[in-house]
Amino acid sequence: MSAPDSNSALAEAAALAESRVVGGRSCGACTLCCKVVAVAEFEKPPGVWCPHCIRGKGCGIYAKRPSDCRIFYCEWMLEKGLGPEWKPERAKFALVMGEGGHLTAFVDPGYPAAWRGAPYYAAFRKLAAERVITIRIGTKVIVVLPDREIDLGHVGPDESVRLEPGPDGRIVAHKVPRAEA
Ligand code: SF4
Ligand code: SF4
Repeated sequence: MSAPDSNSALAEAAALAESRVVGGRSCGACTLCCKVVAVAEFEKPPGVWCPHCIRGKGCGIYAKRPSDCRIFYCEWMLEKGLGPEWKPERAKFALVMGEGGHLTAFVDPGYPAAWRGAPYYAAFRKLAAERVITIRIGTKVIVVLPDREIDLGHVGPDESVRLEPGPDGRIVAHKVPRAEA
């Protein structure tokens, strides 16, 4: 999660984010993003519960929650084409769309293989033909390509993933320092 820093910009970003939520959708008892996604403002790593989360209920510091959290919605909240099986509390991962249409599944480390089940894995392989698909299980990163997977192992907070064509034209993935990404 990352967020703007001035109050007015934050309010504007939060309103914009809320306006994009599909009508009728709500988090309900799902609090999975508070586990699987990192929160920069208090250095919460990915894959561990935020100490402020009241599991199955919501945020224990809702009025004072970090700016990161105020503008965050997972793709299930934003994309009407994702059915109920994609809701994070059921799928055990939260989808997040990044820059350039890069889609990341932040998987609950308690269910590390959830993304490989039906209908998810087949959907990821199909989507990989048109966009970068990354699976993050805590700090472990796997890139899904149409024809194979690249397991990058642990990727630290100061590292990023770079994809580029290899010598034979096939895509290769590297871990690089974040400043070089
Ligand atoms: S993962 Fe999505 S549905 Fe679940 S609490 Fe977060 S924003 Fe709401
Ligand atoms: S501060 Fe609240 S909304 Fe943000 S991750 Fe923690 S529990 Fe979730």
